[in-house]
Amino acid sequence: MNKTIIVSNRLPLQVSIQNNSFNVVPSVGGLATGMKSVHAEGNGIWVGWSGIPENNLDPELSDQIQSKIRNEKCVSVPLTNEDIEEYYEGFSNRALWPLFHYFMEYTNFEQKEWEAYKRVNEKFAEVVIENLEDGDTVWVHDYQLLLLPQLIKNKKPNTTIGFFLHIPFPSYEIFRTFPWREEILTGMLGADLLGFHTYDYERHFLSSVKRIMRLEVQFNEISYHDRIIKVDSFPMGIDYDKFYNAALEHDNDSKEKSDLRKRLEEHTSDDKKLILSIDRMDYTKGIPNRIKAFEYFLDNYPEYKEKVRLVMLAVPSRSNVPQYQKLKRETDELVGRINGKFATVSWTPIWYFYRSMPFNNLIELYTCSDVALITPIRDGMNLVAKEYVATRTKGNGVLILSEMAGASKEMNEALLINPNSFEDFAVSLKHALTMPLEEQQTRIKFLQKRLKRYDVEKWADEFLKALEDTKNSKNENV
Ligand code: UDP
Repeated sequence: MNKTIIVSNRLPLQVSIQNNSFNVVPSVGGLATGMKSVHAEGNGIWVGWSGIPENNLDPELSDQIQSKIRNEKCVSVPLTNEDIEEYYEGFSNRALWPLFHYFMEYTNFEQKEWEAYKRVNEKFAEVVIENLEDGDTVWVHDYQLLLLPQLIKNKKPNTTIGFFLHIPFPSYEIFRTFPWREEILTGMLGADLLGFHTYDYERHFLSSVKRIMRLEVQFNEISYHDRIIKVDSFPMGIDYDKFYNAALEHDNDSKEKSDLRKRLEEHTSDDKKLILSIDRMDYTKGIPNRIKAFEYFLDNYPEYKEKVRLVMLAVPSRSNVPQYQKLKRETDELVGRINGKFATVSWTPIWYFYRSMPFNNLIELYTCSDVALITPIRDGMNLVAKEYVATRTKGNGVLILSEMAGASKEMNEALLINPNSFEDFAVSLKHALTMPLEEQQTRIKFLQKRLKRYDVEKWADEFLKALEDTKNSKNENV
């Protein structure tokens, strides 16, 4: 029976080593949920890095870990510390990530890191090919593996290959500045189907293919050598039921309340509101901008002093990349300055958490907040916005969402703002805080309906169905 091989930079599991023993636990991210029917319940396998560098790993222990990982239907790609430094932290996160998010001034194009990127993509190809049988399908994920589709196609031309990009694809004017633009496009064109979150990213990709590769593009099909490559948009959803049901349980919870929930509830009443923001600490998320906009709001609508609180959860991320360290310092300083400026004996305007929170606390943050303020400068999708909506079991709550997040394309009933405009921020925040309950419920209901219908499993199914169709049309052309 044919299988599907899923490939991503990281495997959907956490491996921890202590002394000479280890532990492997599956991680339950959105992608793993979407892939459940092909991976956990089907006969698929997942290829990726385990999170443990190979350097200095005792060979016997390494074998034991491999076999344990195998039991989870995963195969790990052995990566060294140098690989991670140069391919992941280097090329992926200092060249591709900033460029694809339009942060050109943050890009660092190093030949050595490009070489590492090629080397590691080849390592991934080797492991995929070792596990590949005739008739199998391969689904490659994200910007760390842009060369992989072509590397597989070269060696195994009959394999059906899908690729999905989880971050934006930038406009041609940005992409053309990339030193290895042709190599990257050639790598991606090894796929039979290329998927993006939004129609705009798809359009940008096609325009780069036309202008850089000089290929013929008709609607969403590219003619390349003797192949037709399909390009389409598949906006990624969330595990809607998981968030909705967790929030329901939270509503009925008769158990003792957590300290966090008690403190959050202390601050909510008819005239006291909580505003929530949750992001990874990343410069694309617009965190300093949001804090400054909140200051602008309090300056311009002073009647909200002591009435609103911004609860800001920033999850540590890529903290050995200098730009992320700078962002952390800037955020700490801004929060300090603004809290210092406005605080009274009984009120601090910003509650700032720099950590990740367990699922249960996340649900408490979502359910206790009156407004979610999700304002990235640029974001491929943004699942937090969707999770917030899913937890509104009573239909109340307002989502303020940046137009620059992919999610905004499907979330018209949110209050959409330009995150660079403080005025837009302030007016929307005022609108959200004064929105009648009925209007909140109408908006949330529309949003929920769409999110429930197009959840993460549906997203994966639709992609795989479209990939299967490319196989069928190939056979018809033979
Ligand atoms: N999240 C988490 N722990 C936290 C805070 C957030 O696991 O303490 C999750 C959140 O539920 C969401 C994801 O992190 O599923 C963030 O996804 P998003 O698309 O918003 O942004 P990304 O980090 O992928 O850029």
